[in-house]
Amino acid sequence: MDTTDAYKELGLDPGVDDAQLKAKWRRLVSRWHPDRNRTSEALLRIQRINKAYHHLCQHRNGALDPPQDASRPAGQTQAKPEKQVVVREVRLSIDEASLGCIRVLRGKFTHVCRTCAGKGQRVLAQACKGCKGSGAIRRAALFGWLWTEEACQDCGGDGRQREHCQPCDGKGERSVKYHHSVRLPAGVRAGDVLTVPGAQHDGLDFSLEIHVVFEPHPFFVLQEGQLRCEMPVDGFAWAANRWVDVPVPGGLQQMRLNRHALVYRLRGQGFPLEPRGPRGDYLVTVVPTFPEAEDAQQQKLIDRLIEASTRAADADPNSPLGQWRASLKAWNKH
Ligand SMILES: [Zn+2]
Ligand SMILES: [Zn+2]
Repeated sequence: MDTTDAYKELGLDPGVDDAQLKAKWRRLVSRWHPDRNRTSEALLRIQRINKAYHHLCQHRNGALDPPQDASRPAGQTQAKPEKQVVVREVRLSIDEASLGCIRVLRGKFTHVCRTCAGKGQRVLAQACKGCKGSGAIRRAALFGWLWTEEACQDCGGDGRQREHCQPCDGKGERSVKYHHSVRLPAGVRAGDVLTVPGAQHDGLDFSLEIHVVFEPHPFFVLQEGQLRCEMPVDGFAWAANRWVDVPVPGGLQQMRLNRHALVYRLRGQGFPLEPRGPRGDYLVTVVPTFPEAEDAQQQKLIDRLIEASTRAADADPNSPLGQWRASLKAWNKH
């Protein structure tokens, strides 16, 4: 995604300021947040919106808010360190978000050198050595018959001595490496923004702004904060109330099937109701699956099963099937 596309995605003009950018992004997030917007488009949209915002924040970082102290004499103490926000996207799976996790974030960001205000050199109070402070260099022209004056290249014509900026090595910008271990609390949601206070560097107070994005999960979906899973189960195992393995955040768990139920509620195994709060319920929907056509051996086994279960029903005076079969037989004698 390039910068033009990113502005287009957010429906913004490149001339907007940071506050307008942030306000628009917040409006779009609240509109397209998958917790609130259940259209199939929402997840894709929120990811594109966050990507665009993320891109623009990085693009504008450093380019915006140039240091204000360009003309401040060296050595003067700064009143308050300026804030520098480094935006990072963090992709989580739904189970990581359910349980909380730790992410190690490392990277690098560059900012305008505050010592030289991005110029790569410092202007000193003394006169330029190249032109002795006049700002101009005289050059002989036409075999020395004439002199011309040109602006001094050392000082750009203002006559003041320059010094190569040491802190940025003349590049005008400095880069900072960061390495943070960040704890993401259980219940964090896609679209959430977390701020991690950072360290100071070159008089800048920098913090990490983490934008949470959910990765699609092979088993789990989150619908209106409700963790769900739909899984096929063997139809015979279901009919026989057998145990099956079900995925829960953090691993597998055994669950007993019940031939009268298709939806199962696993209490306290779902997504936290609110960040750091207790976990909600987890709903598992089973889809009993039978073979399309039973093979000869399965046919034989099913026949035996039917025979045995019918015999048992006939022998049980309380069985509705047994009672039905007995009354059918009696009626048919007439
Ligand atoms: Zn510098
Ligand atoms: Zn000069």
